[in-house]
Amino acid sequence: MSAKLIEGEPLAEAIKEQVRKDIQALGRAPKLVGVLASDNPGAKYYAKSQETACAEVGIQYELRQLAPGSTAADLEAQVAQINADGAITGAILLMPVPQGVNPRQIQQAIHPDKDVEGVHPANIGRLFYGDFSLAPCTPHAVVALLSHAGVSLKGKETVVIGHSEIVGKPTLVMLLQSLMESPTVTCCHIATRDLALHTRRAEVLIVAAGKAGLVKGDMIKEGAVVIDVGINRVPVEEGGKRKTKIVGDVEFEAAKEKAAMITPVPGGVGLVTTAMLLKNTVESARRQK
Ligand code: NAD
Repeated sequence: MSAKLIEGEPLAEAIKEQVRKDIQALGRAPKLVGVLASDNPGAKYYAKSQETACAEVGIQYELRQLAPGSTAADLEAQVAQINADGAITGAILLMPVPQGVNPRQIQQAIHPDKDVEGVHPANIGRLFYGDFSLAPCTPHAVVALLSHAGVSLKGKETVVIGHSEIVGKPTLVMLLQSLMESPTVTCCHIATRDLALHTRRAEVLIVAAGKAGLVKGDMIKEGAVVIDVGINRVPVEEGGKRKTKIVGDVEFEAAKEKAAMITPVPGGVGLVTTAMLLKNTVESARRQK
């Protein structure tokens, strides 16, 4: 069997189209501010890609670059300014933050209605009641991709690998949202004793561990739906040159032969995550109107 690909692009494009319409209905362009207190090239690249994605749908973007040695007080002062500025509708804290700064403390200082990442306790709390309007982007992308691919979750044995606050845990909550249609969810993590025991009975397998090659083909149930959230840079040799390429957490070629459906990396969850950030940015602007 060769699995059907669950590509991120069609859903990401549909979300962006809706975002454009919502901005028109709103009557003003939302403005998103990224706060970066680091020289990390990856973080700068991420900020640039946010700017590009925003431009595509008509969202203004501004990067506020703070000194890499900034303190928690510096970051909180910046956030307070953003909260007070009526022209700014959304804010995002870019990682990594300087050593000694607790990112959660800064994220919690962002007003919940400007929290486009959906990580403020108020928005996480709403998630518990089934309100996904400012949900964390990647978990939202995962459940939206499953729904878009027509996968019914009702009663299904569903295994999530990873229990981080930004991906694994909110994904679990979102999967359990419906009283009657939810899957039966198992969460595996670093302390799970026998990972394969769980993955082999998963009808739906969601992997968010950040470990290339963690899930091998023989760990997948025949006919499963596999959502690979992982993004890992691995070294490869091409034409005698050393390069890096991006892979997920699942051994894609082997998994494709067992699964009924699978997301590619890149080109799967990541594209929809970016679209969800844009959707949240419009929702933030709508809340402040
Ligand atoms: P994290 O490091 O915060 O959490 C990793 C989780 O995986 C932990 O819960 C840990 O217990 C679990 N884990 C680690 N090794 C394991 C093992 N050997 N067996 C079982 N569980 C194990 O990472 P995160 O922020 O949740 O991100 C996870 C992955 O998803 C990363 O590769 C990250 O780059 C990727 N990611 C992708 C997107 C996207 O848009 N596609 C967005 C966010 C994160």
